[in-house]
Amino acid sequence: MKRLLALIMSLALLLSAIPSMSAEDEIMYTGTVAGGSLHLRKEPSSSGKVINTYKAGTKVDILENDGVWCKVKVGKSTGYMMTQYLKIEPNYPHLGWSRTPDDGTVLNLRAAADGASRVVYKALSGCVLETVEDAGSWMRVRAGSVFGYVEKSRLTSLSGDYTPAPTVREEGLTALSLRTAPREVGSARGMERTEGDFTYSVNYPALDFPAADSAMSGWVQDMIRLFEADHQANHGGEPGHLTVEYQAVKVDDRYQSVLLMALYEVGFFQVNAVKAVNVDTQSGRVLSGEKDLFTLDTSRPMFCLESAVARLLHGPADGYDGKPDMGWLRWAVLTREGVQVYLPAGLFLPPSLGTCRVDLRYQQVGECMGLDSEWIASHLRIIDPTKPMIALTFDDGPSEETDRILQVLAEYNARATFCVIGSKVEEYSGVIKRIIAGGNEIACHTWSHPKLINLSASNVRSQIERTNSAVSAIVPGYQVKVLRPPYGSVNKTVRTVCAELDMVIAHWQVDTLDWSTRNAKKTYRAIMKGASNGVIILCHDLYGTTADAAEQAIPELINKGYQLVTVSELLSFHKDGAVPGTVYNRVDPENIVTGK
Ligand code: ZN
Repeated sequence: MKRLLALIMSLALLLSAIPSMSAEDEIMYTGTVAGGSLHLRKEPSSSGKVINTYKAGTKVDILENDGVWCKVKVGKSTGYMMTQYLKIEPNYPHLGWSRTPDDGTVLNLRAAADGASRVVYKALSGCVLETVEDAGSWMRVRAGSVFGYVEKSRLTSLSGDYTPAPTVREEGLTALSLRTAPREVGSARGMERTEGDFTYSVNYPALDFPAADSAMSGWVQDMIRLFEADHQANHGGEPGHLTVEYQAVKVDDRYQSVLLMALYEVGFFQVNAVKAVNVDTQSGRVLSGEKDLFTLDTSRPMFCLESAVARLLHGPADGYDGKPDMGWLRWAVLTREGVQVYLPAGLFLPPSLGTCRVDLRYQQVGECMGLDSEWIASHLRIIDPTKPMIALTFDDGPSEETDRILQVLAEYNARATFCVIGSKVEEYSGVIKRIIAGGNEIACHTWSHPKLINLSASNVRSQIERTNSAVSAIVPGYQVKVLRPPYGSVNKTVRTVCAELDMVIAHWQVDTLDWSTRNAKKTYRAIMKGASNGVIILCHDLYGTTADAAEQAIPELINKGYQLVTVSELLSFHKDGAVPGTVYNRVDPENIVTGK
């Protein structure tokens, strides 16, 4: 049984049914305008014509949700509202989640609570269904946009806090998507069988590395066996076809990868399966996506996945709130752009999305990998000290506004330092993770924002240490290296404590006064006016106006040739290094080491 389970897991199977007939008329989700007022627009764009404006609490019917915009119906009007401002709830009861049996069989979802009724969906082993109604010995379940009935005895109920996980927008991938994929390494092997009701045409490569080749041919054989058996048992007389296609990439002289996908089609049903193989050609070893790709830091790729998922998932609409773990990397392959993570339909994601792909670029995660690859190394973010640098800093957060700043930073591959208040850290743990996932720095702005010069050494220390450990409780291993003292107030005690804690003290050269003006234009102008090589700029990620200013200033600074770096990155170019206990408000360009 264990082997079978392992086989099924490695096959990553799930049936994705044809869209249900009723998908269009059935309103699966309802929403409520969450806060303030919200525009209903003609187009899914913030420049779309405003049809009407609705107050908080207005109920809407959700017709579609792409994660950014919802197509909604309010009264007689139909238009678009931003997903993030809607509270979305399923328009059907959610009783929990169930898993289909891990026995390698196909489970039929039926139109009624009756073993003789029409099959509306087929789910294979180990897939997760949402239970929506208890019907005696049957359970009504949802798989994507399809509802159907399953015998209760076949389902294992998952605990209430079970959270299957999310996506990427490159969705609905099947083997057919790989027909035009690059095939840069290996020699192609093909097998076909065209007689009888069950036919197949499979293509896969041989790389001349025995471990990889046997893994791939074994998987292909498993697929043929499995689907032929399903076909014989359930679909005699009906044509069934299996397709296997692949992508094969040469990353550099050392690493190669192959992604195999299978598609089994019978009647209205489709089954997709994925297999990922990464090879270290020097040792001939097959690298495991879970264990071997991210050997230096696993938290960053997880946070990147989590952010990708939050952005790409159909909002809370599908009821999924999954937290990625390393198991998600089982279907990860190296390419020359980054790591492609394939998320097989229904295993982590809502089945309705099909098989999805998340791309983690080397600029984001390369430094966590520790692979001996010149190619990856050449794609890491490199700061050029001969070009001007600026350290933007944001105090007093995290807050609801922080994510907007993170988004624009990520978009421009820029970094900043977030000087957080310790007592807010736990509440905003998601923001803390996203700050770090984006390669930004967290600095300590004390636990409760006191004037440190009024405190004893031991109280100063506890203000700092309590904050730092709140951060490392969320991101284990993360070390806070910078103190931003509230009001910039520093004395010998503070310097001594920082020296003992191996931290530097960051003041600022440019004060945007954003907290006082609360004016986006003025804040933007203050940033641009103060911009020069080596400066530290003070802002506060508490205000919408500051986030507005950041959205405008960051692209502009990049455009002017500035590299936006963290405080620690900036100080790392100081000719004397960053000296613990020292106060910095900038690095004078004369002190920046530009040579090797
Ligand atoms: Zn402050």
